[in-house]
Amino acid sequence: KIRLDQVVKSFDTFRAVHGVSLEVASGELVALLGPSGSGKTTILRMIAGLEYADGGTISFGNQDATTIPVRERGVGFVFQHYALFPHMTVSENIAFGMKVSKVKRSKKAIADRVEELLSLVQLEGLADRFPNQISGGQRQRVALARALAVDPKVLLLDEPFGALDAAVRRDLRIWLRAIQEKLGITTLFVTHDQEEALDLADRVVILNGGKIVQEGTPEDVTRRPNSAFVTRFLGDTN
Ligand code: ATP
Repeated sequence: KIRLDQVVKSFDTFRAVHGVSLEVASGELVALLGPSGSGKTTILRMIAGLEYADGGTISFGNQDATTIPVRERGVGFVFQHYALFPHMTVSENIAFGMKVSKVKRSKKAIADRVEELLSLVQLEGLADRFPNQISGGQRQRVALARALAVDPKVLLLDEPFGALDAAVRRDLRIWLRAIQEKLGITTLFVTHDQEEALDLADRVVILNGGKIVQEGTPEDVTRRPNSAFVTRFLGDTN
């Protein structure tokens, strides 16, 4: 379980995150939804330990996150522009995290794990291709396999399908949801696309100007938007 309590973050005098409190239960998939600049990425980066909060607390289970070194947080990432290493094959990209991890694995163990992940993301035939020889959707599947390679407890996804076309995004949503449920991994998914959030998440957290304006199941927020902002934002389907 991840918990944020009254988290605040400023960049110089600009307050990007304004007292955000949020809980993500174990195995839950929560979408952070909001317009550009609403603080979504900053929240993910603080959870990952790439950015410090100026106030409030973030905890993993019962432990204050600031006491857990970044590499020991058990967090896997996929970003929109989290480029794969262009000079490494699909397999080598997936293996990378395991090779640099503190947990030492034998060559055989790494190769077996890469096989398993290739099958999980259904890219068995593409193991020896380079990133520029596969599609954008396939690249994001490789990025997910790479994030999952070290068995993270938490998966953080920042607009992972942002650069792809609508049909590919829809397929990837179904596919991501299936994998997330199969692994039961606690997941936070950032998007500015309301359809994506409503379709994918157990719970949607809507942000505006660094604050949570509403949260609930996709059904709750669509049936009972609590402000003109939410109505407008959810209704805006382009
Ligand atoms: P987008 O969908 O455009 O990525 P977002 O909701 O993820 O937006 P953030 O990236 O969290 O928003 O940014 C929130 C605000 O904080 C923005 O106004 C942004 O300009 C500002 N900001 C983010 N990172 C920095 C930084 N390193 N230095 C200064 N300002 C920053």
